[in-house]
This record gives sequence, structure tokens and C-alpha cells, in this order.
Amino acid sequence: MERINHWIGGKLVPGESGRTGPVYNPATGQQIYEVDFASVEEVDAAVEAAKDAFPAWRATSLSKRTDIMFRLRELIDSHKRDLGLLVTEQHGKVLSDAMGEVSRGLENIEFACGVAHLMKGGYSEQAATGVDVYSIRQPLGVVAGLTPFNFPAMVPMWMFSNAIAVGNCFILKPSEKDPGASLLIAELVKEAGVPDGVFSVVQGDKVAVDRLLEHPDVKALSFVGSTPIARYVYETGTKNKKRVQALAGAKNHMVVLPDADIGMAADAAVSAAYGSAGERCMAIAVLVAVGDIAEPLMEAIEERIPKVKIGDGMDPESEMGPLVTREHRDRVASYMDSAREQGATVRVDGRQDPLYDGDGFFIGVSLIDHATEGMSCYTDEIFGPVLTVVRVDTYDEALRLVNENPWGNGTALFTRDGGAARQFTFDCEAGMVGINVPIPVPVGYYSFGGWKDSLFGDSHMYGPEGVHFWTKGKVVTERWPDPSTSKVDLGFPRTR
Ligand code: NAD
Repeated sequence: MERINHWIGGKLVPGESGRTGPVYNPATGQQIYEVDFASVEEVDAAVEAAKDAFPAWRATSLSKRTDIMFRLRELIDSHKRDLGLLVTEQHGKVLSDAMGEVSRGLENIEFACGVAHLMKGGYSEQAATGVDVYSIRQPLGVVAGLTPFNFPAMVPMWMFSNAIAVGNCFILKPSEKDPGASLLIAELVKEAGVPDGVFSVVQGDKVAVDRLLEHPDVKALSFVGSTPIARYVYETGTKNKKRVQALAGAKNHMVVLPDADIGMAADAAVSAAYGSAGERCMAIAVLVAVGDIAEPLMEAIEERIPKVKIGDGMDPESEMGPLVTREHRDRVASYMDSAREQGATVRVDGRQDPLYDGDGFFIGVSLIDHATEGMSCYTDEIFGPVLTVVRVDTYDEALRLVNENPWGNGTALFTRDGGAARQFTFDCEAGMVGINVPIPVPVGYYSFGGWKDSLFGDSHMYGPEGVHFWTKGKVVTERWPDPSTSKVDLGFPRTR
């Protein structure tokens, strides 16, 4: 069985811990690789390589780092399909979607190509008589990124693009479920001219994560994954005096007002609930139908569901692939039974799909209607192709559902009323809002992040907040007085 190794100091390093994990092709259900799990010593070796590389990398001119980021942009772009193939092979999402994720990740590299501008500080001449003040931002040193299974190419790019461009040395700990893309990224990073040790990959599980969380030389960690692990990473990392941002789970609500275009809302709901088999933190998990649009909207969605083509992600005809593991697929399936037991109506049960009984980790799409707040199909992050529908009478009830939900990643409103849309944007408690846009993932020159239990920490990912997260500020106050005017003055420095 082919092994997926670590990448430390600019080369592949086979794991020696004796611990490994299986990587499956979810479309066939077959194990296709064995991935190394790092030991504490192997994580330490990556940190050491990063520490060694840091002084020279941070001293490398902004222009040289810009050249490298431009080259990396071209290399990733020209390997979009290769990266996509690795993602589809191990994650299961369809190839067009996998290549789409690479394109969205590329935005972050493009943004980082502007590092010379992004690192500009401020300057105030004559802050006091003969005194000038300026601010600069400097890299943190050795930093790490811990990523989830659902975007094995894009989420690493969210993190490392800015992290290395501003002068840090970055260690990636990818998801152990689909780690293959991380090594191709590492090769391309090297080919672009990033010095050895500036970008490393340690494969593994909790052992690697815990070592990164406690290693005294790791200054900051960026995490994306489920809420319980995000909370753990945030609490442990900050206790160990590290800067941490931990992006977490979601249960995104799409509110459809009675005046919305039914066809457009149904298209959006089907696309955003079932795309990538619902394994997206920005997927629409809950549809809140306001007033009498509910029944016609359900019918429009039901009409579209049989047309969703489910199959192997490598087949260009497929629109939705399998789930990442059998265990996850079975957990998703269990929500149909609990929804029924708790009184909801399962209008479409994904277990009816013929692929459900095959070897791959497939399940068809599901539609659960008449859900209410206490039901587990409403309270839990299912992270599968399941759309849960809650019917309410008013905008205020819909808004209350959005705002009382413990998660606040994204939310969307479908309407033809500009005033209602503006009010919703003003009122809703979520970090990313779509108006007639079901998956409002910000472009790379804004920042990505949710509110409430969808993010622990105070800065969002990538874009301007990413640059801020990966750097620390320094303010310099300086004067060049005539030494003959110098005298002792015990008063507090004055500016007036
Ligand atoms: P996960 O939390 O299981 O894993 C994320 C990372 O944490 C992986 O690298 C994994 O190896 C590591 N990990 C897992 N268990 C650990 C433990 N006990 N101790 C230390 N580290 C551990 O998440 P996942 O299943 O890979 O990804 C899906 C989740 O990620 C969903 O909840 C989804 O909403 C969330 N997600 C959020 C965003 C966002 O931006 N908010 C984006 C993508 C995914």
C-alpha cells in the first residue's frame, strides 16, 4: 500500500512513529493509501527546520517574496487538475468542484502577491516637536495550520498564502482522511522557490496537533474544523500563550420570504444544500420558509431532486459524489430515522438511492420538512446532503431562528424586496451574509469567518484580517535632536 509521508525541510520524510491511518477512495469504499501519523519527535523536526529557515526568510526582500508568490500562483493554476484529481480521489467530491476549490484557494495566493503593499505601515511626521512615529508589522516566526477534510486544497491555501508571504515559516497538519493534496502543494511551493523549511507538512492525528499546541517555538495556530475540536484547540493554544484562530462548525439558514422567485430559490437551495454532498461549512443546512411560499417551494425543490446526478466524482456526468467515510455516511443516514421519530416529515430519504447499498460511501439527497427547533435534524450539524425545512409565519420568526442558533457562520436571504434585504443584513447574527446568494464565501481580498460558535478567536481568516493575524505590530517613536539640547526630564513624554 502506497504511503503518504511528511514533508520536512523541503523533502519527503517517511514516518517512523509506527503509527499510520487508512485513506479511502470514498467512491469505491477501497483503502488506497496509508498515511503516516507523526510522533512528537517528527513534529519537533518540522519545527526545528522552520526555526532554522526563519531568519533568512524574514530578511528576504518583499520583492523577492512577491516573485515567489507570483510563481506559486502560476504553478498552482497550471496544476489545478492534478490537485483536483487528488481531492476527488480521497475526498469524493466531483472533479469540477474539486478544481473549483483550487480556484478559490488561488485567490488567497493572488492576494498574497500584494505583500509589499499589505506590509506597509503608517508614518506620522512631527507627532511631537522633532519626533516622528511609524508603525511596522513583522512576522511571528514558526506558525501552524490545522485543516479539515472537506477542503484539502483550499483551506491550506487560506492559511499559508499570507502566512509565508509576510515572512513566517508554516507547518501544515492536514486532515488524515484526505492528505494527498498537501504533498503536491508542498512540491509546488518548493518549485516556486520557497526555501526549504519555510513550508512543511506533518501528517497525523491528535498527537501531532497536541505537540503543535504545546511546542514553545510555535507562535500561532490557525484551525478549521468541527466546533468541539476548535474549542479545544483555541483553549489549549491560548493557555500555552499562542495566538489562535479556530474556525468551527455551522448550521447555515437560508430564509425565503414570500415574495421570492420560487424557481430561483429552489435552484439555490438544491445547489447549496447538496453540492459537495453537503460537506461544506457554508452549505445551506436549514431552509426557513416564510408564509405561504412554503408548499410551492417544497414542490419546486422536490421536482429538482431526482435530477441531481449522484456518482463517482471522476465521472464528468456526476454532480454529487459520496461522503468521506462509511462511518460519516451512516451517521448522516441516522438523521432520517430520528427526524421521523421526532415528528418531522421526511419527504425524500437519501437511503432510497440505489448507490446507498453499494461499496462506496454514497447516500442520496434528503429533504426533511416540518422540522422544529428541538429536533436533532435541526440542532445538529449533519454535514451531509440533507436539507431541513422549518416553516414560519413571519420575518421576525425567521430572524429569531437565525439569531438564536448557536452557530453563525453564514446565512442567506431570498427576496425581491431591497428594504427587507437591507434590514436582514443589519439584523442577522452571522459573519457572512448572502442576499439571493446561497453560499456567500467572501472573495480572497475580504476575510472569511463566522460568529458565535462558528469561530473562536477574534480574527477572521485570509484577506486583510489574515495578514493581521500572521503579523505583530511594532510602533517606533524616533527623534534626531541636537545633542546639545539634551537634558534630564522626569516628566511623562509630552506631545503638546
Ligand atoms: P475535525 O474537527 O474532525 O478535524 C479538523 C482537524 O482537527 C483535522 O486536522 C483533525 O486531524 C484534527 N483533529 C480531529 N480530532 C482531533 C482531536 N481530538 N484532537 C486534536 N485534533 C483533532 O473536522 P473535520 O471533520 O475534518 O471537518 C469538518 C468540520 O469542519 C465541520 O464541522 C465543518 O463545519 C468544519 N469546517 C468549518 C469551516 C469554517 O470555515 N468555519 C470550514 C470548513 C470546515
